[in-house]
Order: sequence, then C-alpha cells, then structure tokens
Amino acid sequence: GSERRLIVVSNRLPFQLLEKNKKITLKESDGGLVSALKSYFDGEGSLGEVSSKWWIGSAEFPEKRWKKFTEGNKRTGAFEVDPIFVDTKVYNRYYNGFCNATLWPLFHYFPSYVEYDDNTFRAYEEVNRIFADRINAMLRPGDILWVHDYQLMLLPGMVREKHPDATIGFFLHIPFPSYELLRQLHRPWKEKIVKGLLGADLIGFHTHEYVQHFLKTVQMVTGFDHQYRSILMNDRVVKADLFPLGIDFKKFHEASNHKDVLAEKNSIRKNFNDRKIIFSVDRLDYTKGITHRLSGFERFLELHPEWREKVVFILVVVPSRQIISKYNERRKMIEEQVGRLNGKYSTLQWQPIIYRYNHLSFTELAALYEASDVGLITPLRDGMNLVAKEYVASRHDDGVLILSELAGAANEMGEAVLVNPMDNNEVAQAILTGLTMPLQDQKQKLQILQKRLVDYDVIHWVNDFLRQLEEVKEHQRTQA
Ligand code: UDP
Repeated sequence: GSERRLIVVSNRLPFQLLEKNKKITLKESDGGLVSALKSYFDGEGSLGEVSSKWWIGSAEFPEKRWKKFTEGNKRTGAFEVDPIFVDTKVYNRYYNGFCNATLWPLFHYFPSYVEYDDNTFRAYEEVNRIFADRINAMLRPGDILWVHDYQLMLLPGMVREKHPDATIGFFLHIPFPSYELLRQLHRPWKEKIVKGLLGADLIGFHTHEYVQHFLKTVQMVTGFDHQYRSILMNDRVVKADLFPLGIDFKKFHEASNHKDVLAEKNSIRKNFNDRKIIFSVDRLDYTKGITHRLSGFERFLELHPEWREKVVFILVVVPSRQIISKYNERRKMIEEQVGRLNGKYSTLQWQPIIYRYNHLSFTELAALYEASDVGLITPLRDGMNLVAKEYVASRHDDGVLILSELAGAANEMGEAVLVNPMDNNEVAQAILTGLTMPLQDQKQKLQILQKRLVDYDVIHWVNDFLRQLEEVKEHQRTQA
C-alpha cells in the first residue's frame, strides 16, 4: 500500500554533511549499498513501490550542523536521512571496544586478539538501545526494516519486543564463525546476541558455511532446532540464508571509458615500462594478511631470481581504525617488512615494492586495477572481499586474480588461482603461475568469472534479499 516504507539501518550513516561558505550540503558516501538501493528503486524492484526510503545511522557530523541544515527544511534526496548522535565516550567503548576489539577479531578467527570487557558490552547494549528507541518510535505497520552488520546484532530483538508483527531483515557483512569460536563469549553476551539476531525474520550471510555456523550456534545457545534453513521458534519461523554480496559490475568494467582513468592507467604502465605489475589494496587490518603476503612475495623473489627487476608489487594500504593498538602495531610490522625487503632486493634501477599508505580516489583505484597484470588478494579471513570482485570486473582480455581460499569470495571464484595465505611457498608458486599464465587461459577464466559477477550484481543482491524477506513474512502469515 501507499504507507509502506523501507527503513535501512547501519552503524554509520553513508552520508556526510558538508559546510562550506556557510552553505550546508548533504553528500552521499561512495559506498556500494546506497547506490545499489537507489538503482534498485530506479528499476523494477521486487518490492514494487514504497512510499519513502529512510536511512538511520550514527552521524559523523556535529548535531549543531544538522540542526542548522534541517532548519532550512531541505529535502535530503532519495533517502530521508535520520542521524543518531551518540555521546563520543559511549560510541568509542561500543565501536572501538566491543565491535572492533571483541566481535571483529572473534568472528575473523583471531581469538587471541579478543578483549573481554563488561563495560564495552554495556556500551554495545546502550548504543543498540538508542537505535531501537528511535526505530520503535517511528515504526508503522507495513514498514520494512533492514538492519546491517555486526554493530547492530541486538537491534532486531529490541524492535521485535515492541513490534511483534514487524518485518525485519538482517544482513551480516562479516563471517559468522564456527560455534567453537562463538562459545568463547561470556554466556549472557552470546545469548543476547543470538536472541537479538533471531528478532529478525530473515538473516542473511555471504556464504553457505556462515549460514551453517549460525544454525549450529542457534541450536547450541537457544535449543531451537532448524529444518533446512528455517529456524522453528515458538511463535514464528525465522529463515537464515546466503546472499553473496555483489558489486556494481558496470561501474568497474566501464571505468576506462573515463578519460582520467585511462590517462592514469597509461601513466602507470609507462612508469614501469614492460615490467609486470602485481597489485593489492586493503584497509589496514590484521585480517587482510598483508604481512603474510609480503613474505610470500619475498619467497617468490628468493626462489625465482630471474624475475627480479621484471616485476613490481604495488601495495596500497588504506588507513583504518587507527585508535586501536593492534592496528598500529600491524602498520609498523608492514612498514618494517617493506623497508627490509626493498633494502634487500632493490637495485639502482629497480625497487620491488611500491608502498602507499593512503586512501585512493576512484580514478586511481580503477586505473590500478586496469594497469596490473596480477591482483594478489590474500586475506587470512574475510567475510566476502569486494576488491577481488572489482579487480576481475575491471579487466578486459587478461589479468589473473590470486585469491585466498579463506575469503568468502573464493566460494564463487573457483577460476581464480586459490591459495592458502599462510603458506609462503604456495603464494610464491601462485605468483609464478599468475605471471606466466597463457593469455588464452587468462581470457577464458575471466569470462567465466565476469559472467557470474554480472548475473548476481549488487542490484540482484538487494532484489534477492528483499524478495525473500517478503516470502518469509508471507509464509509466517499462512502458518499463523
Ligand atoms: N576502497 C575504498 N577506498 C580506497 C580503496 C578501496 O573505499 O582507498 C573500496 C574498494 O573499492 C572496496 C572496499 O573499499 O569496495 C573494500 O571492500 P572489501 O570487501 O574488499 O573489504 P573491507 O574493507 O570491507 O573489509
């Protein structure tokens, strides 16, 4: 009906509020999700018409600026934006504490990095409660609520308590680990997290394996059984399923149509003459396996001296979570290793690693994807890894993706050269394979990989999730 609204919730609002010469403007962030949802509603989405679209999340801009902006009564564009302002101290305990010093390492299989602190869990509950209060006050029958990611796992349950009939979807963007990891959380924490998630009607994950881990965890923590991917709770059936996140294929595949991307690509290629280029880009995170990757590259140079001076490794690291000590330590380790390796192998004419610690513009990123012969993406754990998909989408007739088998994306990218990122010899061998693969093989593998990316791009992903959420609700209604 006309009263149906889509309400998307994520920890951070993907919007910035910029102030320049006393003029305030709202700007969308580049993130894939906003543009995917916009394109979805521009086309023929499975939801059909909605009366409005909302985005709720914590703001990175000051509350005062928001007040000034709304006094002008300006419309906010495709989405009605509803910012939440959380006290900085509480936000830090929640985000840098429970989210990124407890949940993040645990869910990525780094149990020894996990911090256990009742105070940060309390802040996690507090922030989820602030979000819930906001949503509970606005939610109306017919609304569709779509909650994103590990920062907000208590939220579906907190909304369900107040609105038993609400339509709630949840998507987890990181891995869901084996129960053997999750069981290490304090009992009240894991119970609250699992019950919080079960407040949703549909819970989405990137891979089949994460779904299985979740179902097992539900069984162990709550005793609720499942059939196929349906969890049989007392009052309703909740579905868990896989929705492997896709990318905007066209945006990357057609990037070289932009003059500046092409110019940048040509300048990179020219700079390195006919040397082969290996490329990687990740946020600075211990899960990304950057130090292991460097060791693999070193092993390659050691075993294959004939390749020295013939190949460069462009290693881009994007700053992230700099307040957390584990992240700073990792940065030091990477920079020491780059320095040592370059010191050991450089000649007057050649340096094996070009290292950059900074954000990339889209132009630079697209140009690097297009200029590199090999994409070397070797996380130790990764929920999905979109960089791997973007690299493949950016290629035309050639290019080899080397991908960690521990990234969620590996499940859909069997034609890549898959490696165990822990094994230096295997990574070294994969680099050799990548650099020497016949063009015909490269082309053939790319075609298969690219077709899969086209067939399930990010708009399909949105469509698939929202359609299935509708189906679960329909099923619940007919069972009641
Ligand atoms: N990216 C970015 N800024 C940069 C370099 C990359 O925003 O300077 C993008 C990149 O295009 C990709 C995303 O960041 O879409 C990284 O997603 P991925 O799933 O690979 O890893 P995450 O950072 O989410 O763990």
